[in-house]
Amino acid sequence: MGEGPRFMALTPATDLGPATALTCRECGHTRELGPHYACEECFGPLEISYDFADVTRASIEAGPRNIWRYRGLLPVPGNVTDTPNTEPGLTRLVRADQLAEALGLQRLWVKDDSGNPTHSFKDRVVAVALAAARELGFKVLACPSTGNLANAVAAAAARAGIRSAVFVPSNLESQKIITTAVYGGTFVTVDGNYDDVNRLASEIAGEQDGWAFVNVNVRPYYAEGSKTLGYEIAEQLGWRLPDQIVVPVASGSQLTKIDKAFQEFIRLGLVEDKPYQVFGAQAAGCGPVAAAFKAGHDVVRPVKPDTIAKSLAIGNPADGPYVLDVVRRTGGAVEDVTDAEVVEGIRLLARTEGIFGETAGGVTVGVLRKLVESGALDPSAETVIINSGDGLKTLDAISSSVAPSANIAPTLEAFRAADLA
Ligand SMILES: *Cc1c(COP(=O)(O)O)cnc(C)c1O
Ligand SMILES: [Zn+2]
Repeated sequence: MGEGPRFMALTPATDLGPATALTCRECGHTRELGPHYACEECFGPLEISYDFADVTRASIEAGPRNIWRYRGLLPVPGNVTDTPNTEPGLTRLVRADQLAEALGLQRLWVKDDSGNPTHSFKDRVVAVALAAARELGFKVLACPSTGNLANAVAAAAARAGIRSAVFVPSNLESQKIITTAVYGGTFVTVDGNYDDVNRLASEIAGEQDGWAFVNVNVRPYYAEGSKTLGYEIAEQLGWRLPDQIVVPVASGSQLTKIDKAFQEFIRLGLVEDKPYQVFGAQAAGCGPVAAAFKAGHDVVRPVKPDTIAKSLAIGNPADGPYVLDVVRRTGGAVEDVTDAEVVEGIRLLARTEGIFGETAGGVTVGVLRKLVESGALDPSAETVIINSGDGLKTLDAISSSVAPSANIAPTLEAFRAADLA
């Protein structure tokens, strides 16, 4: 596979904040910062290395009320807040006592990332990718997407005043097609599944110099944006880590970076070091990481996705093996649920907490329930789950299972007859 645009040498003025190098996750080979994503030695994925300076609770708390309060821990320029961007993050962490009671848990929180500018956690990763891509000299913000990333890229590029180029499977939810097209930009539907679109994007990236495919050729920078979810959870809990966390898994990036965030906060002394367990949530119709976990395998066998949880429908997850590492290291698990359980999860979260999550949220709630029932998750330990997107974007998933209580004439007699009191 091609290695991205080599011609763009970094100028001495390039500022990627505390980032110092790119390090291979497989062999540890290190190279200079730049528009690179695959190791020169072994083709393994590259990850950002840092030299953090002077990041304290006070310096974070004094920062803006969005992800840029953590800019000292991200591969972005120090003046990132001066450039128009969507300012995602600092979404609410909701104490979920009624959901906890319904599932037999004692202390449960929902990190509700549907509160981001385009209503999913993807605004975080895109904001970081855009800031780094500009610094690296890219001119177009692009992506292959299962939907939410398309929204986030199109919106972020519009806000930044640059061109976007977005590629999605043509069978995507109509809500996600509309909510991408509205921002303008180049928007292409492709007759194939996400894995087909992703492969096409890699091929286009190989010949379109200057196009930053956020989750392909600038993926090392993009992935770091997910750390902000972990930072926020720890800060919002009052500078401490939860005992257990349940995270939806598509490519697996979000889960591995939440763990990286917790590890960095421990290393920097921002939270007390303590054990925590990380759990992954997938849909049974696209559960390659859950299958590998249950079989005790280190490799993840690709599958053909068939699930209503389209935002998680990546059959060949790039970070799958690293998810297995994190989950096994921390004593967690990866579990999957059927589409019927996804719908029930969406409805349960809505009914008990007034939070309307998308299908990925339904997957996470469904998996939480299953983990409690199987005993894999400790019901007495403090638990956080992620709702990573907004139910308004996946209405088709539940449109046939919810309805008004009654339809009546505008009279008191009709109200009484309907027996609703
Ligand atoms: C992209 C996405 C995820 C997880 O993505 P990863 O590729 O695993 O980082 C989770 N939930 C929603 C709603 C998403 O759009
Ligand atoms: Zn390597």
